[in-house]
Amino acid sequence: MRDSSLEDFLGGDDSEADGDSDADGDPDAEADDPVDGVSPAVSTYDWTPTGATCTSCDAVVERRWRDGSDDGDGELVCFDCKTW
Ligand SMILES: [Zn+2]
Repeated sequence: MRDSSLEDFLGGDDSEADGDSDADGDPDAEADDPVDGVSPAVSTYDWTPTGATCTSCDAVVERRWRDGSDDGDGELVCFDCKTW
């Protein structure tokens, strides 16, 4: 008869532990990165909040990339004109 009382005890303990781990939390919250969406400075990339003119098609864009790096020209062009 000791077996049945032991089973009862283990059953209750198991369900209690289940609730604990559920309330314990969110490991993702600790993984929050304070530096969000900020890319490291890249010399081939230029961002002008007020807009700047693409040297190739005259479109006014905020983001431009330095094209023609092989020639050393380094002209800033829009996404469409950049040779990827
Ligand atoms: Zn362009």
